Amino acid sequence: MSKVAVITGASRGIGRAIALKLAEEGFTIIINYRSNQEASDAVLKEIENNGGKAKAFQCDVSQFDQVADFIKVVKDEFGSIDLLVNNAGITKDTLLMRMDEKAFDDVIAVNLKGTFNCTKHVSRIMLKQRTGKIVNITSVVGLIGNIGQTNYTASKAGVIGFTKACAKEFALRGITVNAIAPGFIETEMTEDLADKVKENFLSNIPLNRMGKSEEVAHLVAFLASEKANYITGQVINVDGGMVM
Ligand code: NAP
Repeated sequence: MSKVAVITGASRGIGRAIALKLAEEGFTIIINYRSNQEASDAVLKEIENNGGKAKAFQCDVSQFDQVADFIKVVKDEFGSIDLLVNNAGITKDTLLMRMDEKAFDDVIAVNLKGTFNCTKHVSRIMLKQRTGKIVNITSVVGLIGNIGQTNYTASKAGVIGFTKACAKEFALRGITVNAIAPGFIETEMTEDLADKVKENFLSNIPLNRMGKSEEVAHLVAFLASEKANYITGQVINVDGGMVM
């Protein structure tokens, strides 16, 4: 039977690339999205057209009870969950001076609390199974900070700490937990950045280009494989050398 992978925020960008790559690797893909059903349906169709198996579920990862219901339905229908990729994320950028409470709370709620919510409900299943892998998508800015992103960097630094604590808690039950820190990747999230901000990022990337979602997905596929069984609690950058 094929392994089951839950990927949050899989309707677009990096999550979409992860879904397509893991489907290629033989996983049954649970596509999660918040509101863009059209994009989610397109990912589902692409996986099925390539001979893979997938199902899409709408769920706001920031809502604890919604996530509980979502994961229960997946478990009841598919029997197990072997891989969780906490990828869903948002930005609400502005300088701290101008940042209102809602912009801070919203970003923490999706990026950090969402990671907690999904891990909390999926890990119960994995702990019983005594096997499983969790990959959290953080960001290099969680390591180095970034102007205009106090909310986002705090959420991503939180994900790094959360990853390490979970890795220690779950290790004896055969569950690995790792984080991937992408740098500057071409997606809708980075599309709208001002040219000046983009130029500034690029000038700090030794490989001198933005990354592609697929380049993050390849690492997820490796961490999700048996080849990565002895790797846990790590944060691995996919950033063209931006942070070293
Ligand atoms: P994106 O293109 O904006 O896509 C975001 C995805 O997350 C969409 O599928 C969206 O669903 C989903 N989502 C947002 N809020 C959600 C919620 N509350 N519940 C469930 N799903 C939700 O973003 P991306 O660039 O691919 O980023 C993916 C991850 O990589 C994020 O965690 C981001 O922080 C991280 N990252 C990105 C970069 C970069 O340069 N792009 C760099 C470092 C880290 P809908 O389609 O329904 O809206």
